[in-house]
Amino acid sequence: MTTAQADSDTAPNDAADPEAAKRAELKALAEQAGRDLEDASALEILQWAVDTFGKRFCVTSSMEDAVVAHLASRARPGVDVVFLDTGYHFPETIGTRDAVEAVMDVNVITLTPRQTVAEQDAEYGPKLHDRDPDLCCFLRKVKPLQEGLTRYDAWATGLRRDESETRANTPVVGWDEKRGKVKISPIARWTQDDVDAYVTEHGVLTNPLLMDGYTSVGCAPCTRRVVEGEDARAGRWAGSAKTECGLH
Ligand code: SF4
Repeated sequence: MTTAQADSDTAPNDAADPEAAKRAELKALAEQAGRDLEDASALEILQWAVDTFGKRFCVTSSMEDAVVAHLASRARPGVDVVFLDTGYHFPETIGTRDAVEAVMDVNVITLTPRQTVAEQDAEYGPKLHDRDPDLCCFLRKVKPLQEGLTRYDAWATGLRRDESETRANTPVVGWDEKRGKVKISPIARWTQDDVDAYVTEHGVLTNPLLMDGYTSVGCAPCTRRVVEGEDARAGRWAGSAKTECGLH
């Protein structure tokens, strides 16, 4: 067999499987950009994202703060900001979402799970978050996001390497194998001090709970205040081995 024949036997067949070809192309793009943009500023990374993906790019936000949404709106006014309303959020988080929608030049898209909390309680029993948080997160976060992201090729998150050990190797641009998307973490290299400085300089909206002992804000039943010396995410699923909701 010649080399040319071998290549044609192993390369993705674009015509036969355009989805696989697109996936391979996006993956290569993500890996190259991860190398090229490692030292770029957050704004430069987001500018690359909006220039590369246009309307097929969105920011996801937990409404802990609006830093990445603010940066992205500078790169492209009116950018889509996706928020997952699990039905278990603190009122302060919903208030932050509403304020972001009202005052920022972004297009807030709220995703909801297929079932309300009451419907989930009826099917699985009350307080699923205490008995099987992985299933609860799957139903209320992972699945809605999976469905909500189908219209995009790339999504941005606010993940930072200094938040926890599990996030220490977060690339600024990487490949989200689970979803087949480019995953962008423009503030991966930032510290909490960088975030605070950006918030102050630009008057960015933040969740009021950050002023009340919380350093990471998730669903109310699974989030507590942290004490001095704990890492920023220690208040999430405290007392259990769970550290991530399955989105990352
Ligand atoms: Fe359920 Fe808690 Fe996960 Fe929210 S964080 S979806 S309440 S398990």
